Amino acid sequence: MSEQDVSSFGYRTLPQSQKVEAVRKVFERVAPSYDLMNDVMSAGIHRVWKDMACQRLNPQPGERILDVAGGTGDMARRLLSLMKRANQRRVARGASPKACGVSVLDYNEAMICEGRKKGSDGEADAGLSWMVGDATKLPLEEQTIDAYIISFGIRNVSPVETALTEAKRVLKPGGRFFCLEFSKPSSVILRDLYKTYSFKLIPQLGEWIAKDRDSYQYLVESIDRFPSQEDFADMIQKAGFHSVGYQNYSNGIAALHFGRA
Ligand code: SAM
Repeated sequence: MSEQDVSSFGYRTLPQSQKVEAVRKVFERVAPSYDLMNDVMSAGIHRVWKDMACQRLNPQPGERILDVAGGTGDMARRLLSLMKRANQRRVARGASPKACGVSVLDYNEAMICEGRKKGSDGEADAGLSWMVGDATKLPLEEQTIDAYIISFGIRNVSPVETALTEAKRVLKPGGRFFCLEFSKPSSVILRDLYKTYSFKLIPQLGEWIAKDRDSYQYLVESIDRFPSQEDFADMIQKAGFHSVGYQNYSNGIAALHFGRA
């Protein structure tokens, strides 16, 4: 089997198609406790990272924004709320309002179902749309999107290079690309502490809260296998983006990569 036909699933190597199915099963299993586990594992810090990433994307009314591997819509809701606030400021300045909308795309219906349930009783979700689709084969025309974001998703996608090429394809020229992902802590001490915490505690928390140790073992292994900030920035550049860079969050425990199509 050639290198292109296999992919890492945590520390294991699987044929590409088996990895896709294995990841799908992980998220089907964790969907009901996904949001709670995020808060517990990160002591709520993922919310701060997500807020910072969405503010940097700076969604504007009338723009077409895509939240890929969007899961329960955590990022899309933040982006929509920022966009609506920008619209209110437009109106306060005497300009006419523009349409506000954000699309969530995920290949896992279980995650999308959880996401839709969360917003079923509120006005706040008006403008959110949900699509079942694969990051490596986006069901969208080329050059139609103003900003693309993938948050804690790309590490699970296979092959990552194809997802990046697809992002470039659907973005308008000059469109903004963002990827929020766990990354490599910048100091050796923090790296060791973080590794001990993640390998010793996260699978245990998964067992207690989600009744699923294996999925959270995959999670920590997949974080460990993901490329460094610099290597991932190179991959983004190779996919054809320019103005590529990244910003570390919490000393590199997570990083926001960005670029322009
Ligand atoms: N973006 C959300 C967040 O930040 O909370 C959810 C992140 S969750 C860790 C990863 C998501 O990626 C899951 O919902 C999973 O179904 C989705 N996913 C994995 N591979 C995918 C693919 N090839 N295409 C679309 N979604 C995918």
